Amino acid sequence: MMDHGLTEEQKDIVRLAYEIGQKKIKPVREHYDQTEEFPHEVVEEFKKSDLFGVYLPEQYGGFGGGDLELALVVEQLSRACGGIALCVATSALCAIPVLLFGTEEQRKKWLPDLASGRKLGAFTITEPEAGSDATSTRATAKLDGNHYVINGVKNFCSTGKVADNYVLFASTNPNRGARGITAFVVEKGTPGFGFGKKETKMGIRASPTYELVFQNCRVPKENVLAKEGYGLFVAQGTFDYSRPGVGAQALGIAQGALDETLAYIRVRKQFGTTISSFQAIQHMMADCATQIEAARALLYSVCRAMDKELKAAIQKAIQNKTLVHDELDNMRAQRWTKESAMVKLFCSDMAMKVTTDCVQMCGGIGYMRDFPVEKYMRDAKITQIYEGTNQIQRNEIAMMMIKEKASKKNLEPVTA
Ligand SMILES: Cc1cc2nc3c(=O)[nH]c(=O)nc-3n(C[C@H](O)[C@H](O)[C@H](O)COP(=O)(O)OP(=O)(O)OC[C@H]3O[C@@H](n4cnc5c(N)ncnc54)[C@H](O)[C@@H]3O)c2cc1C
Repeated sequence: MMDHGLTEEQKDIVRLAYEIGQKKIKPVREHYDQTEEFPHEVVEEFKKSDLFGVYLPEQYGGFGGGDLELALVVEQLSRACGGIALCVATSALCAIPVLLFGTEEQRKKWLPDLASGRKLGAFTITEPEAGSDATSTRATAKLDGNHYVINGVKNFCSTGKVADNYVLFASTNPNRGARGITAFVVEKGTPGFGFGKKETKMGIRASPTYELVFQNCRVPKENVLAKEGYGLFVAQGTFDYSRPGVGAQALGIAQGALDETLAYIRVRKQFGTTISSFQAIQHMMADCATQIEAARALLYSVCRAMDKELKAAIQKAIQNKTLVHDELDNMRAQRWTKESAMVKLFCSDMAMKVTTDCVQMCGGIGYMRDFPVEKYMRDAKITQIYEGTNQIQRNEIAMMMIKEKASKKNLEPVTA
């Protein structure tokens, strides 16, 4: 692996997450893949090593890193198992909207428990009739005194049931369509919040995927993030910072598959020589390694650029008791929609190609359940689907390109 200009602290994070992946995840990943149980014992290891809070500010119990530190952790854990690693990423998917759009009180209330891993987080926007098109949200939230009364069904929620805090999107004004959707934090145990079907899946089977059911669930007004009607703005603002996490998961899955494949093809012999000595195989090895390094370079550079402004905005928001997102606006900070979509798109397409090629390089054994490579291929597939399918990522990238062209931004000199 290239150096990529990581600091000593960041290299320590990589080493720590790598070790946990190899020592604590690898020995049990097959069990959790087969049983589809949630790996509570491994999550305890993540907590002990403070892996949940690497990207959160110290003021809320985090390590003070940013998106890059989160990506490093998710990459190394996913290198061992993309399903077990996912609970770290979904907790971030809950924490990021609170960090960006929460008030100081809300940040203090929810972030420390997410940073320590005492509580796990989840994010639930998808519904049976609202997948790629979140504007079709049917769940409703009706104001009644100091509470919103939530009714509706959410589906495909990762880390469902085991998570404690859920960032949920519901319509507070169905007549206003996209502008009527509002983001809430809903805590498990709130009366009227229950769990429906648990999904059986192709991959990431250690991560529970649940249907959530809300029946007259009363959520305090103080749990609204940003403002009423700003839900889709919250979702998009979150994805700008969370999609690199999916990229990191994909990257780790690809690297893990190549690690296992290399170990096998160096010793497996046919025609009197090792598989790795055939030029056809060597070209596949070279292509896999090159694509992985290209993905890593894109992921790390986008995260590093995003973190610069984000960290400054966080400190201002803490000082001024304002919203981080408002501080980013005041700073006229860059929107990262295009770049984060590019990271997610490139890393996940890369992971699907690399893991498929790894199965091919291993031959028949690569297809078997008791050999670890086929699981990487199954796990890779989801990274092309969630947090917006790769068709949606391409739509967003193209839309941003057209907007930038219209605003002549492409004529500006390159500064970073
Ligand atoms: C295992 C798993 C875990 C998940 N975890 C979560 C979670 O934690 N929280 C959450 O909220 N959601 C979660 N999801 C939901 C996921 O984000 C959605 O499945 C995804 O956004 C796609 O929505 P959909 O499944 O309804 O597909 P659809 O929107 O029905 O899309 C079907 C196909 O049409 C294509 N398509 C749709 N619209 C367009 C368009 N405009 N242009 C081009 N192509 C288009 C899609 O790319 C796709 O290929 C999860 C899903 C899975 C499978």
